[in-house]
Amino acid sequence: MATIIADKRETKDTRTLRLELSNPFTWEPGQFILVKAEIGLQTVSRAYSIASSPTRDEYLEITVQQTEHPTMSKYLNEIPVGYRLAVKGPYGKFIWNETVSDKLVCLAAGSGITPFRAFMQYIIDKDLDTKFKLLYSSKYGDTVIYEKELLDLVKQMKNGEYELSITRDKKGLDYARFGRIDKDYLAEQIKGYEDGYFYKCGSPGFIASMREILLGLGIPEERLKREQWG
Ligand SMILES: Cc1cc2nc3c(=O)[nH]c(=O)nc-3n(C[C@H](O)[C@H](O)[C@H](O)COP(=O)(O)OP(=O)(O)OC[C@H]3O[C@@H](n4cnc5c(N)ncnc54)[C@H](O)[C@@H]3O)c2cc1C
Repeated sequence: MATIIADKRETKDTRTLRLELSNPFTWEPGQFILVKAEIGLQTVSRAYSIASSPTRDEYLEITVQQTEHPTMSKYLNEIPVGYRLAVKGPYGKFIWNETVSDKLVCLAAGSGITPFRAFMQYIIDKDLDTKFKLLYSSKYGDTVIYEKELLDLVKQMKNGEYELSITRDKKGLDYARFGRIDKDYLAEQIKGYEDGYFYKCGSPGFIASMREILLGLGIPEERLKREQWG
């Protein structure tokens, strides 16, 4: 079980929940938990990547984006602070730490940013000199999850770089570029990282297209990692 001890509204449909675990466990950056709840007449169980680093282990955070026809994601966007949730974990092999590589490119679309926030916090807290690049794609300027926080995190990293792509409407977010993450853009962005690891997180469509481009650019399969929603 876990108690919701704090929350933060990230965007109009996305909320971060800070959880205090009744039986604390530790995790590796990139792992997920399962949240189980009775919603209506159903028992629903869904996976959520742990969005905070194990170096900040006095709590665990998840960030939940409400989907178009939601069940759990609506419940978690509405449940009040102070309530308890049934959680199990950690699970998953989408793990990165300093023993995996010292060069890392993270490719995220939409809510796929969540595990990478944990990677960034981890690199900062452990004072690692990992060469790190985050390429994040969001549809609109006002749906960027952790918008200010990502800029702040990357500033705290010794060797961090971050580029935001907006695919539909920048809504005044001037530092973002407009456009999809395509082959030409990626070829330019990964210069100097070719011998690193590439972590992709988001929808099946995003993951498949990033995989195809990266393989086409000569990155071997064994250095491509993915966490797929749905
Ligand atoms: C390893 C992993 C980690 C994840 N981490 C995160 C995370 O950090 N943050 C996050 O927000 N999400 C994450 N997800 C996604 C999350 O698990 C849920 O899938 C998401 O929150 C939607 O759950 P839901 O119960 O609200 O919707 P569900 O009821 O599961 O529906 C999911 C989607 O399927 C569609 N759908 C459902 N039923 C139908 C139907 N009958 N016909 C057509 N379409 C339908 C809906 O459009 C809906 O958006 C993760 C998933 C995985 C596998």
